[in-house]
Amino acid sequence: MIADAKFAKEIIQAGGKSLKKCYQCATCGVVCPQSPDENPFPRKEMIWAQWGAKERLLSDADVWLCHQCNDCSDYCPRGAKPGEVLAAIRAKVVEHYTFPSFLSKILRRPAGILVYFAIPIIFTALYLAIFTPEIPEGEIVLGKFIPHVHVELAGFAVGAWVLLVAAISAYRFWVAINSQVSKVYEYEVKEGGEIKVVKSSARFLEYLFWSIIDILKHSKFQQCNKAKYRFYAHFMIFWGFIVLGIATLGDIVYLYVLGYHELALPITDPVKILGNLGALILLVGSAWAIVARFSDQRIGYGTYFDWLFLATIFAVGVSGVIIEVLRYSGSVLAYYAYLAHLIIVFTLLAYAPYTKFAHLLYRALAYVWAKSVGRELKS
Ligand code: SF4
Ligand code: SF4
Repeated sequence: MIADAKFAKEIIQAGGKSLKKCYQCATCGVVCPQSPDENPFPRKEMIWAQWGAKERLLSDADVWLCHQCNDCSDYCPRGAKPGEVLAAIRAKVVEHYTFPSFLSKILRRPAGILVYFAIPIIFTALYLAIFTPEIPEGEIVLGKFIPHVHVELAGFAVGAWVLLVAAISAYRFWVAINSQVSKVYEYEVKEGGEIKVVKSSARFLEYLFWSIIDILKHSKFQQCNKAKYRFYAHFMIFWGFIVLGIATLGDIVYLYVLGYHELALPITDPVKILGNLGALILLVGSAWAIVARFSDQRIGYGTYFDWLFLATIFAVGVSGVIIEVLRYSGSVLAYYAYLAHLIIVFTLLAYAPYTKFAHLLYRALAYVWAKSVGRELKS
């Protein structure tokens, strides 16, 4: 194991400010509801973080089995806040594996906010200069201002980019965490004195299926004891996205299967109801998470990495509601709100592999890995 003082400092800067306080009492590993009895976490991660054991931490799937409930931080006699240290390590993992890493480094620093907004604003300015859309008169119909096909083509381009980046990042992370099996968990894969061959790739799809079910149900997150409200807020944000995704599919069916020319749907339309429901769930969930950050000192205020993601989700929900209100009240400001909404949605989706959104990908792979090496905690 190679110690790297610079990496320890980076973890501190990323939010693990109290990691040096740990004196290895192991209380955290005992109280953690996610930690297996054999080779538990987060005690070992705390000492690795103090040493700056970069290679080991970046390839440690255990940090992704943590849901930051902070039960461990509650019980830590030294106030070392292991929950926050693990969150900081996860932020470093995202920065390390996401392709291209320079973009990851830029976007996750406060100064990167300029780049964060500059890219979609430049795209929007170019679009407006090329297509010169005019504000239509009469009833507010967003598709008359910016045709839906243009939005969908942009969506496909962003989707292709995100898939490419996610595939490269996932491959790098998967190779790294599997390289640790023999080093750290070797004794765990012994059966009858023999080293059990871990055929993770052979059963990958099966493990992936069950990991997705776990994520949909949030069954691991539910095992956390103290911060139940974090579970509910997270659950609402997650399902808010899914409901919105289904509503978007409904819009596509209307346009390209049922032959609708516009999506100026009445508020009683089932797809519109679904869309509004998704936005409401997302808004309540993100508002709840924001309030919790302020009101619960156990989890701390969080880092820029946390806030950027929360603020973006909240802004997506708020701008969506503003469009709705302006549209039904007949105000042309709805068109300007629509442009702002598209810019915010771009930042949420196009940067997903670089922001906290990426934890969905890394956590899913860590779940698959845990199942593949028999490290999954049985509830
Ligand atoms: S983080 Fe706290 S509870 Fe965990 S080993 Fe260190 S001192 Fe003990
Ligand atoms: S924050 Fe919760 S899940 Fe994470 S290590 Fe601590 S007790 Fe375990």
